Amino acid sequence: MTKILVIEDEPDMRYGLEHNLRFEGYDVYLAEDGAQGLEVARKVSPDLILLDIMLPGMSGMEVLERLRKSKSGVPIILVTAKSQEMDKIIGLETGADDYVTKPFSVKELLARISAVLRRFSVEDDIGVYEFGDIKLDFTNLEAKKGGKPIELTHREFEMMKLFIKTKGEIISRNVLLDKVWGYDGDVQPTTRTVDTHIAKLRKKIEDSTENPRWIITAHRVGYRFMG
Ligand code: CA
Repeated sequence: MTKILVIEDEPDMRYGLEHNLRFEGYDVYLAEDGAQGLEVARKVSPDLILLDIMLPGMSGMEVLERLRKSKSGVPIILVTAKSQEMDKIIGLETGADDYVTKPFSVKELLARISAVLRRFSVEDDIGVYEFGDIKLDFTNLEAKKGGKPIELTHREFEMMKLFIKTKGEIISRNVLLDKVWGYDGDVQPTTRTVDTHIAKLRKKIEDSTENPRWIITAHRVGYRFMG
């Protein structure tokens, strides 16, 4: 059964989510603060985490950082109170997979959950992929260039997964946004976001960012992976 961990300090919210997710057939685990959330995450290895940002003590963002630092690739959906916060979240390299803004409908949340789970189940079976002097280990979220470890963010691994699956084809910025960011809410990251992330990724994997060999720009459209 698919395990979902809910990290939420408001009791009504927590039990409401528990009830609705159980009803949908998910196996639900609850935590009321960040420390407890991390502990439960370690114990049960959830398939997805619903993470409230505003938590007493350790914030949701800190929980997220700690999970990613511990190499956890678990899909995470952030729950935020204000839509204002979203600008910050999208601007930052948070490593979250999606978000919902309170108040949200159960229907919307369930749609987000299944979309994120679907994305992960399809893309999680790449294992290890090598091109040139780059080695990407999608199981352990480890990357190497010329035998030396390089730090790829969770999102960069997601981008690489998509590139590998569409190798040689031009992939538009909008498709990248849709598949890697997955937002279809009110606050959209722009295609500029994609360019910024591609630039960062190139710095890590290309020998020359001026003359990229692996991620080629398709003028005005998007990118093409040649690995
Ligand atoms: Ca809260």
